[in-house]
Amino acid sequence: RAKSNPLQRVCFYEAGMDERNRERRALAADLRDAIGRNQLTLHYQVQTIVSTGRIRGYEALLRWTHPKMGEIPPGDFIPLAEENGLIVPIGEWVLRTACREAATWEPPYTIAVNLSAVQFVIADLPEVIRTVLAETGLAPARLELELTESTIFADRERSLEMLRQIRDLGVSIALDDFGTGYSSLDTLRSFTFDRIKIDRSFFCSQAATAQTMAIIRAVLALGRSFGIPVTAEGIETYDQLSMLNAEGCQEAQGFLLGHPVTIDDIIRRGQIARVASEA
Ligand code: C2E
Ligand code: MG
Ligand code: MG
Ligand code: MG
Repeated sequence: RAKSNPLQRVCFYEAGMDERNRERRALAADLRDAIGRNQLTLHYQVQTIVSTGRIRGYEALLRWTHPKMGEIPPGDFIPLAEENGLIVPIGEWVLRTACREAATWEPPYTIAVNLSAVQFVIADLPEVIRTVLAETGLAPARLELELTESTIFADRERSLEMLRQIRDLGVSIALDDFGTGYSSLDTLRSFTFDRIKIDRSFFCSQAATAQTMAIIRAVLALGRSFGIPVTAEGIETYDQLSMLNAEGCQEAQGFLLGHPVTIDDIIRRGQIARVASEA
């Protein structure tokens, strides 16, 4: 009987939505305390130069260890943090933590930090970056900020101005997840980037088609004509890596080269040397 009553179905559906909303609100409330309770950590994923196999640097990737639910991936809580503005203090924590860490590494290793659209709109980002660099002593050239097209589309005018100010600091800007946005070519035309990262969806096994290869080649050609390097994301096999080498892709990132791991793991494996400290 319930099945034949559409109204009852609607109510049932809405009850489900309420439940989901409650969970989201509870999670958002927990997230509010996450920084203070040391539940946030950074993992670092290696970025490798394809032709030499050498390490260029690392991308910082945020992790939240929830006291009851365990590790929650960034894709599940960053949208929440963007909705309620918590991404501003969280993003600042990520930037400061990553820069403080990278300042202890032997140059010229670089650190890449992801930025959210909301940080672009709310925060006085260039000033925050300037302060963090001054505090940590990290050379601006060793910091790269990763933006997606959605970051930029939130407010194009403001984004142009922000990007100009950030690049004036000597910090570089990478266009992340390239190929998944709505208007990639227009974005490339209007903004200046220091690097393009091809989204990992182009390298999953189902993507291995002639069309995908043609797009990868076209992006590499774009990078060459702009005079900027291209990073391939989500590289999981040697076949992909040798293809990238043959096609002249400068950099790669992916499970083949290294999973995102804690800094202790990286140090233990001898993949990074720390500058001698005075202590
Ligand atoms: P992203 O910046 O494109 O980061 C790459 C994502 O791909 C990471 O997922 C990484 O673990 C995953 N990945 C790397 N290599 C491979 C591979 O070979 N195969 C597969 N299947 N996946 C691979 P993660 O850490 O879950 O992060 C997801 C997204 O969350 C990031 O995508 C980024 O957009 C966002 N994010 C992470 N940390 C931060 C942060 O501190 N701030 C902001 N605003 N966003 C962040
Ligand atoms: Mg990224
Ligand atoms: Mg990406
Ligand atoms: Mg992504």
